[in-house]
Amino acid sequence: MNVTIIDPGATLGVLGGGQLGAMFATAARRMGYGVAVWDPHAEAPAHRLADYSLTQPFSDVAARKDFARHVHAVTYEWENVPGELCEQLELEVPVRPSSRVLRVIQDRIEQKTFLQTHGLNVPAFYGISLPEELDRQAVLGYPLICKTATAGYDGKGQWKISRVEDCAVVQEDLIRTMRPGSRWILEEFLLFEREVSILVVRSIDGTMRTYPLVENIHEDGMLRQTTVPADVPAAVTQQAVMMARSAVQALDGVGVFCVELFLMGDGRLLVNEVAPRPHNSGHYSLDACTVSQFEQQVRALCGQPLGEVRLLSPAVMLNLIGDEVLFATVSPANQELLCEPGAVVHLYGKRAIRPKRKMGHITFLASTCAEALAKAAAFRSRHPQPPQ
Ligand code: ADP
Ligand code: MG
Repeated sequence: MNVTIIDPGATLGVLGGGQLGAMFATAARRMGYGVAVWDPHAEAPAHRLADYSLTQPFSDVAARKDFARHVHAVTYEWENVPGELCEQLELEVPVRPSSRVLRVIQDRIEQKTFLQTHGLNVPAFYGISLPEELDRQAVLGYPLICKTATAGYDGKGQWKISRVEDCAVVQEDLIRTMRPGSRWILEEFLLFEREVSILVVRSIDGTMRTYPLVENIHEDGMLRQTTVPADVPAAVTQQAVMMARSAVQALDGVGVFCVELFLMGDGRLLVNEVAPRPHNSGHYSLDACTVSQFEQQVRALCGQPLGEVRLLSPAVMLNLIGDEVLFATVSPANQELLCEPGAVVHLYGKRAIRPKRKMGHITFLASTCAEALAKAAAFRSRHPQPPQ
């Protein structure tokens, strides 16, 4: 028996039970696996899809042992799960991507240093461990962007600093929000032409599969819309594929990775960040590809062959953020959406609606990107304001 291959019937553990954990659980169940979800929030959507649920804090040692006893392998829905927990679990079951990969990725300074060391272009950056260092650096100039080294997401824990005079206000914020050991990364603020991203899946034998390059639009640091495939010259796509594959290869990562890149006006690409997991910008793959990013996550975790990646249709994915979810849940707006050819609605089942909370998404499928973009634009213009 090959011990590295985990066949259906086994139970897969996932740390984090938000929408990403829920979509992983859905794929795993369809493929014949049991699922154990560990998320300290009892309301987290993936708990409802779990065969076994844990809601203890991640620091609970008894819960960790219990979880390890119930699962044959472990993955996580995002990079902000405790690295130490993954290290401990790894002593008992395979954790993919490994805790070593997680440790590199979950600290933005470590991650950018790693990427740069491996020959990948990244924005100029500078790590600081004291808020007072903010206006002492003369390396980057202004504008710059300051990000917490760890635990940021959806643009949270980020400050744009346009001029040196802005440093004082940001410094106060850093002092107010800092914890023991806090560090921050300062990055040159890039006036990029576009943001693009690409999924790379890597199996335990080193085989890699790459998804199409997609274009992303962010608002307020948060993903708003993804278009697939990205409308860029073939040379840019080739370059992005090469960079993404070499990043995942250098990490020796096993699992699904999303590489976010900035495309500059002169055609240069710089890596913004690497996520060691399925990504919001890859949600189109649920409806527009032969094999979704979540099915690949299951396959890679279990040491199974990776799935063929084929884009079946151009698509535009639009996030439903905060109150916008009501357009998809309240009549007559939701009925209008259900009548829209090619529109696939995904609702995450989160009970509380909060501003800047991802509540669901819509994938608009069409025979061309232009048509899919027009459908997304029409939806947005029908609903310029969130319903009251
Ligand atoms: P998160 O983990 O929150 O996704 P990112 O580093 O990807 O953090 O930043 C979120 C968004 O902020 C990016 O997608 C991009 O739009 C913007 N951003 C981040 N870094 C820079 C930068 N150095 N220059 C310009 N914009 C940036
Ligand atoms: Mg990002």
